[in-house]
Amino acid sequence: MINKKYYIENYGCQMNISDSEIICSILDNEGFIKTENFKTANIILINTCSIREKSEQKILLRINQLKFLKKKNNNIIIGILGCLAQNFKKKILKINNIINLVLGPDSYREIPSLIRKIYKKSGKYINTFFSKNETYADILPKRDKNKITAFVTIMRGCDNMCTFCVVPFTRGREKSRDPHSIIKECEFLFKKGYKEIILLGQNVDSYLWYGGGLKKNFKKSKIKNERIINFSNLLELVAISVPFMRIRFCTSNPNDMSYKVLNIIKKYKNICKHIHLPVQSGSNKILSLMNRKHSREDYILLINKINKILPNCSISCDIITGFCNEYEYDHNETLNLMKLVKYNFSYMFIYSHRIGTYAYKNLIDNVSLEIKKRRLKEIISLQRKHSYFRLSKSIGYIQEILIEGISKKNINFFYGRNSKNEIVIFPKKKFKIGDFLKVKINNCTSATLIGDILN
Ligand code: SAM
Repeated sequence: MINKKYYIENYGCQMNISDSEIICSILDNEGFIKTENFKTANIILINTCSIREKSEQKILLRINQLKFLKKKNNNIIIGILGCLAQNFKKKILKINNIINLVLGPDSYREIPSLIRKIYKKSGKYINTFFSKNETYADILPKRDKNKITAFVTIMRGCDNMCTFCVVPFTRGREKSRDPHSIIKECEFLFKKGYKEIILLGQNVDSYLWYGGGLKKNFKKSKIKNERIINFSNLLELVAISVPFMRIRFCTSNPNDMSYKVLNIIKKYKNICKHIHLPVQSGSNKILSLMNRKHSREDYILLINKINKILPNCSISCDIITGFCNEYEYDHNETLNLMKLVKYNFSYMFIYSHRIGTYAYKNLIDNVSLEIKKRRLKEIISLQRKHSYFRLSKSIGYIQEILIEGISKKNINFFYGRNSKNEIVIFPKKKFKIGDFLKVKINNCTSATLIGDILN
C-alpha cells in the first residue's frame, strides 16, 4: 500500500509559495496527506529557487542533508521541483543519487501519478518541458489556515530577457491566466474570510488575456483588441469583485507600467497605494548591458507620473550591485537615483553570474566580491536613511491598518500594515488578527512605524 504522507519545503519568492500551495492542492485532491514534520513523511518535495548562486547552494546542501533519511528508509521518495529542477534537469540526478523526481514549474499535475509509478516500479522521472497553456487556473491553492493574506497568481514566466536573469529559462515564456478563474478565486477567498489579495507574477503589468497561450503568440491570434484583457482591466475587475478586500500586486516592470494602471489604483480605495518597481541600476550603461527596456530618464519620468497621479503612494524597488562592467561612476549613478526617488524600501542584491544567462555567455563578471560587498553596504546604508525619512512622514497621521499578527518583539503588541505596505506595531487592546482599524502613528524606526489604536 502507498504511504501517502508528504512534506513540502519551499525556497525563494512569493511565486514559489503560491506554487507550493498549488502542489499541495494537487496532492490533497488525490488523497495524499500533508505533514509539517519531514521525519514522518514518505514523500519529501523541495520546491526550489535558482535566482542567485547562493539560493542554489543552500538547496544543494539541503538535498545532501536528506541522504540520511534515504539511508534509514530507501522507500522514501525525494522530489526536486521548480526553478532549480528546471535549470539542472538530468544533471541533478548525477550530483545526488537520492532523488526520484525532477519536475519543472509546468509539470506539477504529474506529481501524484509519478509518485504511484515510483512505488510500483521504482525508478527516476524527469519532466522539464514548458507548456504553452499551463497556468493551473482550475486549481484552488491549498493555503495555510488563519492566513489574512492570499497570493493569487495571475501570470507565469517572463519575456523580458534581462541579461542577468534565469527566470525566462527556469519558468519559461509569459502566459496569462483566465481572468474568470482569477475573479472566482478572489470571491472565494473573500467568502473564506481572507482580507487581502496579492496578485502575483514575474511581470504583472504585462498580463494579457486573449483566450490562452503564450503572450508572444498574441499577434498571430485573430482575437480583436477590444476582446483582450490587460492588467489595468484585470485590476479593476478584481477591485470591483471584492470591494472589502485589500488588493496588492507584484512585481511591476517599469517598461510595462501604464497610465491606465495608475489611474485604476487611484480610482479604487481597496487597491493599496504601493508599487514595487525594480530599477536594478541607476546607470544607463548598466541598464543597457542588462537589456532593461527602460533608461534612467524613462524611469524618472515614470516615478514623476506616479508621484503626480498618486501623491501618497509608496515606491519600493530591487537593486543589483556589481553587475559586469559596473564602474564607480555607474555605482554613483545608482546612489544618485536612490537619492532622487527616496524609495520606501528596497531589496538589494549582489550580482550573481548565472549559468545560461546572456550575461554569463557574453559578459565578464569583472567586479570583485570585495567591491560588490562595499557597494552593497553603501546602498543599504542609504536605503536605511530613506526608509526612515519616508516612515517619519507618517508620524502624527491616522492610518487604516490591517492586523496581521502578534509582534515578535513584544507579545502585547500587534503588527499590521498600512496601505503603503509599511509595517506598524501597536498595543493589542481588544482587537484580533484580521481586523481593520485606525491607528495614530506616534513614532518610527528605519523599519517600522509605532502607533496607538484609536477606535
Ligand atoms: N520582475 C522583476 C524585474 O522587473 O526585474 C524580476 C523579479 S526577479 C525574480 C527578483 C529580483 O531578483 C530581480 O528584480 C533582481 O533584482 C534580482 N535578481 C535576478 N537575477 C539576479 C542575479 N543574477 N543576481 C542578483 N540578483 C538578481
